[in-house]
Amino acid sequence: MTIKALPSHLINQIAAGEVVERPASVLKELMENAIDAGASRIQIEADEGGIARLQIHDNGCGIQRAELALAVTRHATSKIASLDDLESVATLGFRGEALPSIAAVAEMNLASRCAEDEHGWLLALRPGETLPDPRPQPMPCGTQITVSRLFHRVPARKRFLRGAKTELGHLDATARRLALGAPEVDVRFVHQGRMLWHARAAEDDAALEQRIASLLGEEFVDQALHLGYEGQGLRLSGWVARPAFSRSRGDLQHVFINGRYIRDRLIIGALKAAYADVLHYSRHPAYLLYLEMDPRELDVNVHPTKQEVRFREGRRIFDFLRRSVQQAVAGPAPAAFASPPQNAAEPQSGAVVDPAGPDAPERPEPASPPAPASGAVRLQSGSAQMLYGSAAPRQLLIAEDAVAPTPPLGFALAQIHGVYILSQTETGAVLVDMHAAHERIVLEELKRRLQGQTAVSQPLLLPSTVNLQEDEADRAEEALPMLERLGLDLRRVGPQQLEIRAAPALLDGFDHAALVRDLVSDLGEADVLDLHRLEFTLDRVLGNMACKSGSVKAGRALDRMEMNALLRQIERTPRSAQCCHGRPTWVELSMDALDKLFLRGR
Ligand code: ADP
Ligand code: MG
Repeated sequence: MTIKALPSHLINQIAAGEVVERPASVLKELMENAIDAGASRIQIEADEGGIARLQIHDNGCGIQRAELALAVTRHATSKIASLDDLESVATLGFRGEALPSIAAVAEMNLASRCAEDEHGWLLALRPGETLPDPRPQPMPCGTQITVSRLFHRVPARKRFLRGAKTELGHLDATARRLALGAPEVDVRFVHQGRMLWHARAAEDDAALEQRIASLLGEEFVDQALHLGYEGQGLRLSGWVARPAFSRSRGDLQHVFINGRYIRDRLIIGALKAAYADVLHYSRHPAYLLYLEMDPRELDVNVHPTKQEVRFREGRRIFDFLRRSVQQAVAGPAPAAFASPPQNAAEPQSGAVVDPAGPDAPERPEPASPPAPASGAVRLQSGSAQMLYGSAAPRQLLIAEDAVAPTPPLGFALAQIHGVYILSQTETGAVLVDMHAAHERIVLEELKRRLQGQTAVSQPLLLPSTVNLQEDEADRAEEALPMLERLGLDLRRVGPQQLEIRAAPALLDGFDHAALVRDLVSDLGEADVLDLHRLEFTLDRVLGNMACKSGSVKAGRALDRMEMNALLRQIERTPRSAQCCHGRPTWVELSMDALDKLFLRGR
């Protein structure tokens, strides 16, 4: 066996294996280069899903003639020069690998013109051939790169490409994502000569929302809450969808850190945790978030496509994201209803510095729902803003000697089919899903007790035994201190047995063994048993407990007093606008909406 250095063409082909998987990966690299070059306009043109041809044209700074050859040389970059630079990368690229890798597996025409040049220069590269001299090329300032016949000479890779339609789908998603990451850049997307979309540069908030609506859909923008938090050297802004707009796939989850799209486990985990108590765990939240931080706190040089990162202080980022998003998703309703100070969602002091106050949505709710076109009334789910505007609810707290005003959720009039409560409010009517609302109340109560470490635990007259797999029992044992805080007193009494000696008083009459089995099997899914995971699991299991336990079951008749008591409890409970699984607990029908329903002019 002899050891030989590989020829550079082969090295580039190997590198291309990591960087270039399909037309969409070529698009990503070229678009990132255009953004790094300061382009304000990018035009993407593709034929046959980008397999036959993919062209990216930008109006950025261009590449000088003398540097064209370097640009397509491996490990040549204008973006970093030292280890210091590497530790604080501010550009999207820095590895100097993309252009040579692409040129190793496709035909590439690289044409570029700098502002000071009279014309551009073209470098026509063919895989495996030597580097030609640049030829003069008339063109506007900027760079135009055309990549044709991807993998034509690498049949083993070409076989992995899908049909043009599928590849077009990937191209489209990639272009939209990059356009979301660079809102100041005008992006056009053309396929087979037809412009599929055009995202205009956004200069103000309204334009930005329009751009996001055109890239992610109107519905997302309609259903999303705008948030902005700052503190501890971190800045988070963006949109998080209301729980009711959850998805069956995690496809509407976009997070940009310092402008770079990141799909990272820690981030996804933090956001999942933020939604844990308003969303069923099988559903995926939708969000578009921009996180800004000191680039030195972040290592982007973990993976060739740079979508995974390493944080110097992962725990801090996790907490910041989880708390901020949790707060935003909890929405304005509980705060306006004067939620108790021990509100579990309260961010740590200093974590949130939102000029409008952490509870105020930056994007005010419309004063009334848009007029229905066909007589249908659009129900707006629980938002105190809808009911009272922003200032009014505070008055509820100080009205001691004045005439008591109508409480936000009004007074119960009737129960409908044992499922809903109809209540009259100051501005209209409210319908409450009794079961869903009570579920939330029980969950919040359980969490409050857990948080305050005051879970009242009740010794069981007859300790019950739970049979588990040995590894499950091991895990449960690890988690004992945590479970104790929940009011569950467990002992390991055999390799496969746990004994329940005490359980939360709140769950009197509940099947404790089933609860423990649930909890333990949930813990089993985690590959690391850390605090986040436990908190997350508890939220989820508590949600199920609340759902199955003493919650008011639909169908039970309540008298007027009981109904009013339930309404008052909802008002006091944080996050009470959604049940544990993200469904709304109450909806408002304003007089305006009712009038519109009956075509009554007022
Ligand atoms: P990297 O982006 O990691 O630096 P690339 O191989 O993607 O590596 O690009 C190599 C170099 O070519 C870049 O550092 C940059 O100087 C130059 N370059 C590439 N694309 C463009 C462009 N669209 N406009 C201006 N310069 C570019
Ligand atoms: Mg690059």
